[in-house]
Amino acid sequence: MVLLDKSTLMVVFAVLTLTMLVLFYFDTYRKSRAVFAAWWCVAVGSFFSAALFYLMGEAWNEAWAPSIGNGVMVLGSGCVWAGTRSLAGRQVRPWLLAVPTVVVFAVRFATDTRSASIACLALMGTALGLASLELWRERQSSWNVERSLAIAAAACALYYLSRTAGLLLLDPEGALFQLLFGAGVGLLMAMVLLVVVSSSITSLNTARRTQDLKERASRDALTGLLNRGEFINKAQLRLRANLDAGVDTAIVMADLDCFKAINDGYGHAAGDGVLRAFSEACRSTVRTADLVGRYGGEEFAMLLTGVDAEEGARIADRINTALAAHRSLPEGAPAPTASFGVVDTRGRNAGLQRLIREADGALYAAKAAGRNRAMVGPAPASHPVG
Ligand code: GH3
Ligand code: MG
Ligand code: MG
Repeated sequence: MVLLDKSTLMVVFAVLTLTMLVLFYFDTYRKSRAVFAAWWCVAVGSFFSAALFYLMGEAWNEAWAPSIGNGVMVLGSGCVWAGTRSLAGRQVRPWLLAVPTVVVFAVRFATDTRSASIACLALMGTALGLASLELWRERQSSWNVERSLAIAAAACALYYLSRTAGLLLLDPEGALFQLLFGAGVGLLMAMVLLVVVSSSITSLNTARRTQDLKERASRDALTGLLNRGEFINKAQLRLRANLDAGVDTAIVMADLDCFKAINDGYGHAAGDGVLRAFSEACRSTVRTADLVGRYGGEEFAMLLTGVDAEEGARIADRINTALAAHRSLPEGAPAPTASFGVVDTRGRNAGLQRLIREADGALYAAKAAGRNRAMVGPAPASHPVG
């Protein structure tokens, strides 16, 4: 039978956590500066310090060292939980993480080592269980990584909670406890989990960064709306899906009125403010499933699903009302306005480029008719059906 000697395993655990910490810090955290990667660094750092305290206890027979190690392990588990919360943008107050550690120390001073170990395992199991729940609830594009991490955290939580029960119900020196929950088994499990969690967090980090870059490449930096290329890509797919489902689609082209005069009169920064106000007015007026893009300098394009051109024109009027309410220009300045051209598919198998051309024609007509209005085009009678 191969005997797993506790001290050797402890040294391996310390070396592994230190290597992991250095690799993870330089390879993942420094490149991303992601909050959850920072929490994982603190967690691995805590596990490494705990291993040093346990080793001190082994080497010099110091009774206090393992108790401090237990407290630091609880702190590390709390950091894992804080890291999983930060994935969803939820904050954890750092002092909250110190509370369980203080509890472990208090139990140690008030009672004995065994009670302190029970408290430590129960708190670690709880923190990892909560971390698992946070990961399970998280649903991003990389959710399969998050789900496997959730399962790893749940397995770990289950192990620590069973070990708590084992300490309460079994004889810690007995063969059954040693077989299931002995120090060697616990350390081996912690090492496997450390490697699994670290590599999963690295891939999660990569997935999030790729997602972030994709998101940034598809958005206009000033307004946050879809840029022209992404609007066309998404609109083509949506239009096809709507045609297949027999759902109406309206295409709206918008252009801010006399925008050059705004820039000339109030400055470029004020012009930028109006562009942002207009995009906000669009966003707050259309449904979340609709598409809004910045098509050019002060030109915008929208795709509205389940809407005909007349309804599209009413939505355009509401956007102008919302824009006027925004007060993006200095006191006393006339409210900025926009002109709109609206067309719909209405049973036609029209391509996006054609619809955009038609909406542009209607927009031109709206400008010619005096601006600050929406015009529908081409006239419904001229729609070739089929
Ligand atoms: P019309 O009512 O006929 O549309 O007149 P207009 O003045 O809005 O149109 P024109 O095409 O003459 O001017 C558009 C102006 O939009 C010119 C350009 O400098 C300005 N512009 C384009 N992009 C930006 C931007 O990102 N920020 C600011 N502040 N201005 C921009
Ligand atoms: Mg204009
Ligand atoms: Mg223009």
